[in-house]
Amino acid sequence: MSECIFCKIINNEIPSRTVYEDDEVIAFLDITQVTPGHTLVLPKKHVADIFDYDKKLAEIVFSRIPKIARAIKQSDSTITGMNIINNNGLVAYQSVFHSHFHLIPRYTKHDDFKITFSDNSTSYTDDELDRLVTSIKEKMEV
Ligand code: 5GP
Ligand code: ZN
Repeated sequence: MSECIFCKIINNEIPSRTVYEDDEVIAFLDITQVTPGHTLVLPKKHVADIFDYDKKLAEIVFSRIPKIARAIKQSDSTITGMNIINNNGLVAYQSVFHSHFHLIPRYTKHDDFKITFSDNSTSYTDDELDRLVTSIKEKMEV
């Protein structure tokens, strides 16, 4: 896609600090470096978000993530964990609409990456949760 910043990186039209590349997948350092080694993993094929993946593309991208994650972790003995984040849609903070996975190495609980999950479990009745399960299962592709 001609106006996509990540397609431009893939096509070598703009530079990147690439740590991994094959025919179908590329991984390069995120420009912001939330923590040192913050890396983006993405398919070379332009797809906007996770909702556009077919099974083949999912296998291609997901199969590369563990080895890239391990290489990042093994590159620095002070990395003790990693958050893997994939934002989909403006509401979910996606800002580049070429699907990608953030690999964010973690050094301490007090490094510069933060994420919070609220516990809203008391806000829903059993019936409401059962209905949620039913409606999701009805839409599950076989
Ligand atoms: P999103 O917000 O869509 O989940 O993540 C997009 C990421 O792309 C951001 O973390 C941002 O820093 C990164 N980014 C945007 N433009 C560039 C660029 O030109 N080069 C690199 N390496 N990263 C970029
Ligand atoms: Zn693209």
